[in-house]
Amino acid sequence: MTYKNFTIETDADGIALVTWDMPDKSMNVFTVEVMDEIDRIVDETVADDKVKGVVFTSGKKTFSGGADLTMLKGMFSMIEEERTKDPAGAVKKLFDAAGRMTWLWRKIELNGKPWVSAINGTCMGGAFELSLACHGRVASNAKSVKLALPEVKVGIFPGAGGTQRVPRLANAQDALQMMTTGSSLTAARAKAMNLVHEVVEPDQLIPAAKQMIKNGLKPVAPWDEKGFKAPGGGIWTPAAAQLWPAASAILRRETAGNYPAALAILKSVYEGLQVPFDTGLRIEQRYFTQILQTTEAFSMIRSLFVSMQELGKGARRPAGVEKTELKKVGVVGAGFMGASIAYVTAAAGIPVVLIDRDMEAAGKGKTVSEGLVTGSIGKGRMTKEEGEKLLSLITPSDDYNSLKDADLVIEAVFEDRNVKKDVIEKVEAVLPETSIFASNTSTLPITGLAENSKRPAQFIGVHFFSPVEKMMLTEVILGKDTGDKALAVALDYVAAIKKTPIVVNDTRGFYVNRCVFRYINEAYDMLAEGVPAVMIENAAKFAGMPVGPLSLNDEVAVDLSQKIMRASIADLGEASVKPGHMTLIDKMVDELDRRGRKNGKGFYEYPAKPAKKFLWPGLKDLYPQKNPADVDIEVLKQRLLVTIALEAARTMEEGIVTDPREADVGSILGFGFAPYTGGTLSYIDGMGVKTFVSLCERLAKEYGDHFEPTPLLKEMAARGETFYGRFDPYGEGAKAA
Ligand code: NAD
Repeated sequence: MTYKNFTIETDADGIALVTWDMPDKSMNVFTVEVMDEIDRIVDETVADDKVKGVVFTSGKKTFSGGADLTMLKGMFSMIEEERTKDPAGAVKKLFDAAGRMTWLWRKIELNGKPWVSAINGTCMGGAFELSLACHGRVASNAKSVKLALPEVKVGIFPGAGGTQRVPRLANAQDALQMMTTGSSLTAARAKAMNLVHEVVEPDQLIPAAKQMIKNGLKPVAPWDEKGFKAPGGGIWTPAAAQLWPAASAILRRETAGNYPAALAILKSVYEGLQVPFDTGLRIEQRYFTQILQTTEAFSMIRSLFVSMQELGKGARRPAGVEKTELKKVGVVGAGFMGASIAYVTAAAGIPVVLIDRDMEAAGKGKTVSEGLVTGSIGKGRMTKEEGEKLLSLITPSDDYNSLKDADLVIEAVFEDRNVKKDVIEKVEAVLPETSIFASNTSTLPITGLAENSKRPAQFIGVHFFSPVEKMMLTEVILGKDTGDKALAVALDYVAAIKKTPIVVNDTRGFYVNRCVFRYINEAYDMLAEGVPAVMIENAAKFAGMPVGPLSLNDEVAVDLSQKIMRASIADLGEASVKPGHMTLIDKMVDELDRRGRKNGKGFYEYPAKPAKKFLWPGLKDLYPQKNPADVDIEVLKQRLLVTIALEAARTMEEGIVTDPREADVGSILGFGFAPYTGGTLSYIDGMGVKTFVSLCERLAKEYGDHFEPTPLLKEMAARGETFYGRFDPYGEGAKAA
């Protein structure tokens, strides 16, 4: 039999080597077609008497990334449609679809012949679950081998037997930790957890897998043997009595109850370990069906998987502009940002010239890369040779002539219009006419800066976030005259450095910072109302934000807030900043010299390590304090999320952001907007625009006009629209991809 995605070669010992190698994909993923073929392969190998056992491996560098979640997106739409006609039937269909993989893997496990999974590279989700259903697992010890069940990160959970097999192999505590965080395991760690049997040199992978079969591997899973007991003895033991209450408490602490899928893992494991294996699988299937129907799963899969992938692949790239292979990039300004921009560029294999006012400053910029390389080598993430290669690509310089063959120059000098003007002129004096100039400004509108350029069509904003080497988002800003070529080159560059871009139109603060400052401003309001600072910070965490607003303000620097507020007042008038906010920040900076983490004091105190930072007790004396019992934490949570989401809605209304996928992905990658919501606009769509508008109206009455719903929101509420419906990124009116 022939297959589209697999080849089968049976050797003289009767071992069939099944190699998964999808012809039209760079990575193997499970699709309906792939599962159908696996189903047939099981039947074929069972029926073929010559086959004594099966080794299952991948023909690609990685083993597999797991299921193609776009498949789930299709399933959601199907169910939505069915639900209107036959609600119970729709759920039954979902239940059956959810169990397809589960029972196919079970069929492998029970097929009667030994199967060994030979894991040659990254093995994620459903692929790891398939491997767990094989009777033997051998992994290569290559650095690239990572095993994980990361489903919880996109709002679902390991629903193809993962919650049943992992805790029957590893101890329950490790199993829960791994699945509720979605963290990756090295091959060695997986072996230590009893999740793989052998770890071997890459070239020994297939021979070792075959040898397991030749050694008489039994085609029976441990839980299908009589008298099987889970490691540690299962649920009804003294150790388990200690583990489970703590596990629930830890989960609550880590997720604040915002992630139904994480809780479903706990329930599946706890309940599943008390029943026979097949019943456990059915319990898992039921929870999986429930989770698939949650708004969280729907929104997280859409934003964190589908949209992120689409944006990463250039959904907003203008068609018709040829792809640019960047041969040289210039970075002007080798300070805090420029130095790291040079690093990520060189890490992508692109030669960089790093320019500053003098050689000393430029050289200092390169030392940042040296430090990062040393750190990566120390952690085993990079070899010495790779580190040397990376550093050899960065040339510090004080000579603008070295930019004369650059394809792209990124400016990261002081946030000062005159300094930037001078740099733009100097760069354009040598830069080829066809090359692109990008500014990393965080506050100055691109259109204004482009007035200093002779080629405004080739002028664009490429806004990085700090720390550049960790933050996955890059905001690309179009000035009034920015042309398609500039956008295409900027997006090709962002793709080359493996970050996710969002493309926004020009405005003060662009998209991300507009939202971030709303978040911080709400905390200023709360402080002024006398809400204890600790409640503000905790409410933010309970709402799902990774960092509280006061802590965030300390990170971005309190005096930077002051600068931005003063610039707003100078450019837009007094009314653009609330007087109370200015008073608070002037006091913090000018009177108290509390500038944030950088000077060791801000809203927090920063004692010497290892002591942890703590909220500055003096905050209590700035405003008369409310009794905590009189503060409703739920309302604090709502205020923090609603004020950000409302700002995101404003940016859509103003045409700053034009694609809801970008608002959502930008909010999660840019400032960690409560990921379980799927992002700012999914948060609104998730509760319904009508509900959101009523919530805004209620908050506006109590906490100020900035909560007033906008005309667009009111109109959408009246018409029963959603952001993804009205601004359909796939619809006819959508921007050309
Ligand atoms: P920085 O002060 O650390 O670095 C600026 C660098 O520019 C310095 O090394 C300085 O010597 C150099 N420089 C100044 N004038 C120059 C000139 N005429 N020619 C060449 N080099 C010159 O500042 P930073 O924090 O790296 O910020 C740089 C830019 O990035 C700013 O526009 C800022 O708004 C933007 N930005 C900053 C952050 C952040 O978190 N700090 C985030 C995003 C964007």
